[in-house]
Amino acid sequence: MKFLITGGAGFIGSAVIRHLINDSGHEVINIDKLTYSGNLDSLKDVEKSELYSFREVDICDSDQVRRVIDYCRPDAVMNLAAESCVDRSIVDPSKFIQTNIVGTFSLLEEVRNYWVKLEGGKKDKFRFLHISTDEVFGSLCTQEEPFNEGSHYIPNSPYSASKACSDHLVRSWGKTYGLPVLITHCSNNYGPYQFPEKLIPLIIIKAMRGENFPIYGDGIQVRDWLHVNDHSKALVAVAEKGRVGESYMIGGNNEKRNIDVVRDICEILEGFEIPKPKGLKKYTDLIDFVEDRKAHDFRYGVDVNKIKNELGWQPSISFSIGLKETVSWYISNEWWWERLI
Ligand code: NAD
Repeated sequence: MKFLITGGAGFIGSAVIRHLINDSGHEVINIDKLTYSGNLDSLKDVEKSELYSFREVDICDSDQVRRVIDYCRPDAVMNLAAESCVDRSIVDPSKFIQTNIVGTFSLLEEVRNYWVKLEGGKKDKFRFLHISTDEVFGSLCTQEEPFNEGSHYIPNSPYSASKACSDHLVRSWGKTYGLPVLITHCSNNYGPYQFPEKLIPLIIIKAMRGENFPIYGDGIQVRDWLHVNDHSKALVAVAEKGRVGESYMIGGNNEKRNIDVVRDICEILEGFEIPKPKGLKKYTDLIDFVEDRKAHDFRYGVDVNKIKNELGWQPSISFSIGLKETVSWYISNEWWWERLI
């Protein structure tokens, strides 16, 4: 299959592209605006492959998107281009409205104009997969059942609200125009090549440098963690085998409090034979509780039964192994992150 991936220079998009090319032999055209979080260094493994090509394109730019689509004639589009950081959305929501909502609208229109003109099997098999988040469903309390595909949308941050808007656009393009759309809602991802503003890489890098790491509130917020390589496999399974018009929850069956994730990272670092920053007795001494984020969601949890039963996907990388490998990757790959901090 030929995939058009938007946002393929980002954390999850680059993992999907590496998986599509290295493990599945699919062809990929990556379009990305290369914002602060887009990084072509994450694609060094595949950049010379004949199966891969890249164009620097903003999904809001209809003319550019149309030219790429007409040229590459994809079998499927996966939309991962987004502004993705909750804290940035609180400081300056405008980019989130532009890319996540207007950008998704522009992309949908260009994809629709391409798809209506397709014929036969190419038209029947075409898919538009929109990558959303569990955050659109708001916040759970401890006793509540995890989110599932029928959960109500109750977004609390400008980020999750913009993602919710884009989900509604995608769904309506399916209902109104018959565009063969699918939506996925994934929980928190972790793994190599994640921009160092996100919790896990932030803690690892600050610990290596002996800098205090800020933990919001009391650190007891709960997130479900999934390795990005498991997420990539789930996305390809949904694109290939998912039912048109459906949405699928994706998660790690691995709910943890933020503070426990931070302590796990400290423990892993204690176990590695690397010199500690000067004067530091133990990594947990760097924990620094700071004022809580505005409208901070308490808990996200994800029920993955639908994707497991329908598509046979389930997470395969245990958090303890995945986290250890991730810590090790950041220690060994300073070349990738040092210019980003
Ligand atoms: P990321 O910030 O690492 O990557 C986003 C990519 O999109 C970057 O390469 C950026 O340059 C590109 N981009 C931004 N604006 C663009 C535009 N206007 N046109 C073209 N490209 C543009 O984000 P990520 O963590 O890889 O997330 C990808 C998607 O997955 C997002 O939609 C996000 O909401 C969703 N998601 C992420 C997580 C997570 O834990 N990271 C969990 C669930 C869902």
